[in-house]
Amino acid sequence: MAGKTLFDKIWDSHVVTEVEGETLVYVDRLLIHEGSRHSFSMLRDVEMEPYRVEQVFGFADHYMPTETTDGGIPGVKDEKIRGMLELMEKNTAEFGVRNFGFHDPNQGILHVVPPEQGISQPGIVLCGADSHTSTHGAFGSISFGVGASESGHIMATQCLWQQRPSTLRINVEGALPFGVYAKDIILGVIANFGVGIGVGQAIEFAGSCIESMTMEQRMTVCNMTIEAAGRMGMIAPDDTTYEYMDGRPYAPKGTLWDEALEYWQTLPSDEDAVFDREETLDVEQLVPMVTWGTNPGMALPITGIIPSPDEAQDEDQRREIEVALDYMDLRPGMGMAEIEIERVFIGSCTNSRIEDMRAAADVATKGKAKVETWVVPGSRSVKRQAEAEGLDKIFTDAGFEWREPGCSLCTALNGDLLNDGQRCVSTSNRNFRGRQGPNGKTHLASPAMAAAAAITGKLTDVRTLG
Ligand code: SF4
Repeated sequence: MAGKTLFDKIWDSHVVTEVEGETLVYVDRLLIHEGSRHSFSMLRDVEMEPYRVEQVFGFADHYMPTETTDGGIPGVKDEKIRGMLELMEKNTAEFGVRNFGFHDPNQGILHVVPPEQGISQPGIVLCGADSHTSTHGAFGSISFGVGASESGHIMATQCLWQQRPSTLRINVEGALPFGVYAKDIILGVIANFGVGIGVGQAIEFAGSCIESMTMEQRMTVCNMTIEAAGRMGMIAPDDTTYEYMDGRPYAPKGTLWDEALEYWQTLPSDEDAVFDREETLDVEQLVPMVTWGTNPGMALPITGIIPSPDEAQDEDQRREIEVALDYMDLRPGMGMAEIEIERVFIGSCTNSRIEDMRAAADVATKGKAKVETWVVPGSRSVKRQAEAEGLDKIFTDAGFEWREPGCSLCTALNGDLLNDGQRCVSTSNRNFRGRQGPNGKTHLASPAMAAAAAITGKLTDVRTLG
């Protein structure tokens, strides 16, 4: 009998029961945010309390103001946004959910705070009310996004009906070349294999490049698994994982840590484990990537040329390229580095951690912002650390705006919007039409590439800045 994959080991240990091809899975952690109000209504409707309330964590992020929080929630001008923030406080207080909310010193994005707090751990099943919950798979967990009714179901029962996904292993081999970051790796994976490569699958990232990555880099890779249509992304836990977790508030302590470590060390896929599909990407030749179109698979090296519909392999793809070019107002044959931009956003759960701040600040020392540029840390903890290191000063000296933590321009729910039709380089994860504001044109890139664009006013190969 073949060995087990990382996914198999966690899944099999969380099966409660199976009925006609559906599996009832035990969920160890649930992450919710201001948009999860319907989940609380569901509980009220059936007069239930959360089954294991200590396993549920709330976050104020999607609707958090990023300009200032000085006036508290009453100071938020927009009535709807204020209402969402108030409701989150009220709901979590009523049901006793630990809320990293508006006033919490560790407030931040639901995919940034749990790793900082040691809530994200190897070997668990973690669900979150946001599709980029795949981020937490970087710790060697099964982590995936759920809708509001599924969140309500988990709160009530701590379980969820699921179909067992098939498995895909992507081996990322080689050392990260100069100027190439985790964001370029995942954009390279998606551009190379296509946005549909992982449809509904559990994707394990492995290989020498992944093994050499820090936890924050691994989180960036797993975060965007969902953009390759994966159900979840995961990376085997190793010494890098354990060193990152040791001593964090919710991580096990003392003998519990020793026991947990013993279990975690059994999790990596067995050598003879068989995946339903396996692919390999060599990154040694990879150069910094930027998206040109309206999905994350429409990405090119910064040295690339905007494609022509004539290069399409079929009529559907031709139409897709034509529509994307039209929306993005680009013409075939243009060099990527010729594209002038109007805004820059450095933030989101993909790239708002301290290493992202450092990478962007390093580039910000090389010039002054030519376009409006926002830096939005992923949490108050990241903000404090960045300020302790003087990164905020580097940003403001370069003319970048240093803001309060939240999702901000990733999804523009808190009122942070592009002006109509603006072209923005963004470190977020989705370049869908209008995601950052009406008719907004989004080019996804790494924090270093975004900072480079900020100081030149166009898409720029960060490697040329020295
Ligand atoms: S930063 Fe964007 S993708 Fe991440 S949790 Fe917030 S809205 Fe979702």
